[in-house]
Amino acid sequence: MRKYVIAGNWKMNMTPSAAKKFISDLAATLPAQNKCDIVLCVPFVDIAPAAEAAKGTPIHIGAQNVHFEKSGAFTGEISADMLLEAGAEYVIVGHSERRQYFGETDETVNKRTRAALAAGLRVILCLGEVKEQRLAGITDEVVAMQTKLDLAGITAEELKRVIIAYEPVWAIGTGLTATPEQADETCGTIRRTVASLYGQAAADALIIQYGGSMNDANAAELLSKENVDGGLIGGASLKTDKFKAIIDAANK
Ligand code: PEP
Repeated sequence: MRKYVIAGNWKMNMTPSAAKKFISDLAATLPAQNKCDIVLCVPFVDIAPAAEAAKGTPIHIGAQNVHFEKSGAFTGEISADMLLEAGAEYVIVGHSERRQYFGETDETVNKRTRAALAAGLRVILCLGEVKEQRLAGITDEVVAMQTKLDLAGITAEELKRVIIAYEPVWAIGTGLTATPEQADETCGTIRRTVASLYGQAAADALIIQYGGSMNDANAAELLSKENVDGGLIGGASLKTDKFKAIIDAANK
């Protein structure tokens, strides 16, 4: 009953002209009917041209971060209203690169998530354990805690616009992928945690993606798992043929 969501995270790649070309090239290869939702989370300056290029295609546009205040003296930040007006429908919040390099904590991730939802955006909320936590056998505790902290104060109605991306930090951009069993098990832990907070029906409806070196070669197996409802894809979302192959795996 859950629909796959295949989302690309371009990170700090692609100029506006490259973004437009990518989207028209990708759209030309997509079938008229897709069983999955397709999202591209692009750099801020690419949002408006990407949204324009994506009009009339099945591709939705997202951003990669959002500030929790509506406006003000927050140099370098961007508000939810700005993203919406530029044409973004989605925003990634809490990506491990933001947590690792830009001091994001579960508290700021929660504030950004709440602001984005209040403004009407859909949120791709990223969480996952670091290598030491997996080796110490505390992955389940870590992701359950992140899920609870990051979703604090979010209503059941708002949860319908949340996707959780389970992204083991050790698998992002490293070429190391969680095994399909590890991905399924930890996505299952996240789903059980959401059930404890919002009830079983809400948890059953929640889209939980896997992210971490997903590519054309491993997507089908990861997506075959019961608790994996799509992917958040970095490196492999930068080439139309590789990204299309992942969409094909979700469309099967
Ligand atoms: C990501 O950026 O969220 C990601 C999963 O990157 P990669 O696919 O390159 O590991």
